[in-house]
Amino acid sequence: MLRALHSRLAVPVLSALLCAAASPQVDADGPAPFSSGPLPTAENNFGFPLAFDPSKMDTSVDPRQDFARYAAGKWMDVATIPGDSPYMSGIVLMGKRVERQVTALLTDAAATSSSAPKGSPLQQVGDVYAAGMDVGRLRQLGAGPLMPEWDRIARIDGPTALANELGRLELLTNQPVVLGASVALDLEDPTRYTIVVTDADLPLPAQEDYLSPELAPIRDAYLKVVADSLALAGVPADQAKTRAAKVLEMETRIARKKLTPVQKRDIHAAIQRMSYAELKAACPHMDIDALFTALGLPTTGDVLVADVGAVRERDAMIAEYPLEDTKAYLQWEALRMTNAYLSPAFVEMQADLSRALTGQVDAPKRERVVAQSISGSLGHALGRLYVERNFSAQSRADAEEVVGNVRKEFRKRLEQNTWLSASTRAYAIEKLDKMRIVVGYPETWIDTSAVDIRRDDYFGDMTRLNEFAARRAIARLGQPPAEDGFADSKHTLPTIVNAAYSSDHNNIEIPAAFLQPPFYDPKADAAVNYCTLGAVIGHEITHGFDSMGRLFDANGALRDWWSEADGKAFIARSKPLVEQANAYEVLPGVHLNGELSSGENLADIGGVMLGYEALQTRLKAHPEDNRRIDGFTPQQRCFLAWAQNWADKMHPGLLRMLAASDPHPPGVYRMVAPTRNLTGFYDAFGVRPGDRMWIAPEQRVDIW
Ligand SMILES: [Zn+2]
Repeated sequence: MLRALHSRLAVPVLSALLCAAASPQVDADGPAPFSSGPLPTAENNFGFPLAFDPSKMDTSVDPRQDFARYAAGKWMDVATIPGDSPYMSGIVLMGKRVERQVTALLTDAAATSSSAPKGSPLQQVGDVYAAGMDVGRLRQLGAGPLMPEWDRIARIDGPTALANELGRLELLTNQPVVLGASVALDLEDPTRYTIVVTDADLPLPAQEDYLSPELAPIRDAYLKVVADSLALAGVPADQAKTRAAKVLEMETRIARKKLTPVQKRDIHAAIQRMSYAELKAACPHMDIDALFTALGLPTTGDVLVADVGAVRERDAMIAEYPLEDTKAYLQWEALRMTNAYLSPAFVEMQADLSRALTGQVDAPKRERVVAQSISGSLGHALGRLYVERNFSAQSRADAEEVVGNVRKEFRKRLEQNTWLSASTRAYAIEKLDKMRIVVGYPETWIDTSAVDIRRDDYFGDMTRLNEFAARRAIARLGQPPAEDGFADSKHTLPTIVNAAYSSDHNNIEIPAAFLQPPFYDPKADAAVNYCTLGAVIGHEITHGFDSMGRLFDANGALRDWWSEADGKAFIARSKPLVEQANAYEVLPGVHLNGELSSGENLADIGGVMLGYEALQTRLKAHPEDNRRIDGFTPQQRCFLAWAQNWADKMHPGLLRMLAASDPHPPGVYRMVAPTRNLTGFYDAFGVRPGDRMWIAPEQRVDIW
């Protein structure tokens, strides 16, 4: 619901970027869960509270002309972007608070873990943190721990050895390398697991980073990172430069073939079912048998293939490039994907690239780099310790009440819906009733106790954890589906500042770390909490019923449950939304992509509407709460709280990148775009024709 910064821009760039491409059926993008810096802090939010507060407003402005400034103008006047972040917002500060909580936890754990029982969360979390923070030792080791892998790559003498090594590297990184295969719930039949084949993500976040002539500075910065990293790993400097150029050439070919973010929204184009024999035929130059065997997968049955065009291109390139080039490329891939476990110098040398990509100035602190890696690989052990220390049963109960009321509101709206056909409407209600919403943390934690975590072997610890996760997924093939909450570090963990709907499970996860100001404030009135936390939950819920959610049924199976007429009615009703976004200029000459952002923009409208309506229902039951606070009615506070929540400052480079590649529009758009489509907003602030915030009723979006 936020945006894909945690995987894209968080540290270290090159290994974190790898997991940037979210699977199409999951809405979960958040800012860096660990972002730190000397100032500001969550407690010193440029002199303002982190929670909703009228002091952030600029009441000299007319809300009917410029609602964003009215709601948060004083904050916008003084907020600046810290050097270690590509943007600033309440969510960034919330992330900083969580980072401090996590850093304190990790530091304390490292101080006591030596005496904790082997395999306990405390021993594992404390020892791996101590290993990652042993900077002197890691610098001394350099790229040494990776060299056995490089030697194995150097010995590759043909397709079988190549496939064996791809499998091995996939296990060590828990990511596809060139081409990989893993196990996930079958999109069309979530009662079973299936094999999913996919090519590796590219390190630069947007395809245009490879292809657009204007973005040559990004490619120059990237070339330097590749060459410098290879040189640091022992490749002679002139050879490192040649190799870097070849890496960029190969990745550019893949970038040309990969589906664009808009194309990926069409799941049927993005993912295709094939028999195992068809997969082999599609990749004639790869030893698919050897790859599957290395991964412990059966060489029969059928598979799902993501982005077939890119997969074929990978295969073609194996044949076209000399084996020596492929091996050099593979050595770079192995280094890129594990560089966070090696000498800190590898991450430090990515600072210029980060700056070119996003404007972020400072290299991330070591504490953050290590915390990020631990969160990704040992997220449940860390989450257990975090919840014990930082999350109250009261917060869980309060959040569950808001969730319950927002859900009830949506059910009421569906019952009254006039544009869905009767059978679709009935099924929508069934889907809503089946949706699972989990608050705080999973019912069952993943047990990593069998993984050997040593205080003096950071590379080994992290790769063993990756292998554990990869094999755990593979072992599910043939097993009944397991409820597996908060298990994807790319989307949700108890320590991530985000919330996510996943259509293939039909569930919503709201992490413990997310239930803090400004998204949830135990001290605030209902108007504020319903239009912050409540609106976020509403946003996530409606994703189950939009143009993506229609493709997945109540059990999470890929099965379109809309009629053609429903689809047409939806497109007609969302047309103004696309036009509103297309008309919006994020930078001079750079417009939002209405098509790409329509799902998120619609979810924002649905979210604020549901938060607002659930608040109205609650006020009917508690009329004593229907009173002004700080001079504002609950209805006004609702829209003000929503807008303040999304106020942000962004570097132009990040704005450009998000407009091109991220379905989530920037905060400055989200502050006002949904409210301008809601009648309640017009009533609350007396917006009239001729006002800048006015949209004619027939041009407003009315879907939920
Ligand atoms: Zn969303």
